[in-house]
Amino acid sequence: MPTFEEFAATEGMQLLAYDDHPDWLDAVAEFYANMTPFIGNCLRSGEPMILDIHLVDRPGLNAFAASFDDADVICLYRDTVRLIRATARGLVSQGLLLPHIGAENNIVKSRHFSGPPRQVLTNEIDLCDDPLEDIERDRLALHITRLAAHFIIQHEFAHISNGHTSWIGSQRKLALIIEMDDGHLESTKGMERETLEWDADSTAITHVLKIALNPEMFTIDGRTAWKIPNRNSIGDVGDAVTCVVAAFFLCGAYFASVESSLWWDLEPRSHPHPAIRMASIISAITLNISFRSGTTEKEADAHLANASSIIPSWLSLFRGHLPQKDHVPGFLDFCDNRLKQYDTVWQRLEPELRKFKRGGTLAPLVRTRHPAFPNNDVIG
Ligand SMILES: [Zn+2]
Repeated sequence: MPTFEEFAATEGMQLLAYDDHPDWLDAVAEFYANMTPFIGNCLRSGEPMILDIHLVDRPGLNAFAASFDDADVICLYRDTVRLIRATARGLVSQGLLLPHIGAENNIVKSRHFSGPPRQVLTNEIDLCDDPLEDIERDRLALHITRLAAHFIIQHEFAHISNGHTSWIGSQRKLALIIEMDDGHLESTKGMERETLEWDADSTAITHVLKIALNPEMFTIDGRTAWKIPNRNSIGDVGDAVTCVVAAFFLCGAYFASVESSLWWDLEPRSHPHPAIRMASIISAITLNISFRSGTTEKEADAHLANASSIIPSWLSLFRGHLPQKDHVPGFLDFCDNRLKQYDTVWQRLEPELRKFKRGGTLAPLVRTRHPAFPNNDVIG
């Protein structure tokens, strides 16, 4: 592997100063504020891990994680936060998402994008990124943006800290995982890649939930437990959870639209099929809340009651520009089989990834009850 500098020179990749991109600066600062103690304990080949986060002058909503000779590196693409923010404002403007947040006589002027998601990412359509008139609704959109930016950085960090990049590097020329093809770097595809994405999502969503729910944390036998307050910066627990789902959906829906324009295309891709990815995230949220706070899965599930409004909001934002198909024969069987395949691939990959793991724990092969809540049936 080259050093990052050599790689960037070969690739003709220009780096940007954070000072000129305050939205990314805030997101990166929040990541370090939350993760510095953890990163301080991470190792690479027995030495302290060095993590650099760069901003690159390439368009679109994208990011990659890589392990170079001199450092582990996350690269964030310059337009990402602007595209997320314009989309979050568009979604919130539909008025379907958490309608109780905002002025009582809130007059919603819904925004619509004039082309499909793919054209948003290639800057082919002009996006309105003006603040929403209702200050509370705009604050909601900015909160979703903040969570989505945090999700992207945590997801990339998981590709490094869970050993994915080094494992790829043990088989290929570059220890690099890019989310979407960018015209220069190619994104790998197939069942192993989908399984790595599933693992990175599961790790990242825990951290995003922590930001949204702001729990008091304590550790029992090496496992973190949460005391979740009833109120957080955006509202109650259900409001916070809905924002987490919206933040995740927004990134995942763009990735999915680039990987295949056909929703019913079931071939393995880079990321799991969007329906599977969404279902996995929902179950990861339920599991995290119930497992870490000691509630039942049913109680945790109740916080997701409003999350489904994100889908009609997305359809309304891209009104007329998304492919339509109501019924895909055998789809539920497909989902079921694919999740079983991830389990099989994970059984094979987990011991391999463990050799490259930088710190913390991987998703276990055998799940157990939380030591803080031995009477709770939930295993994680
Ligand atoms: Zn990824």
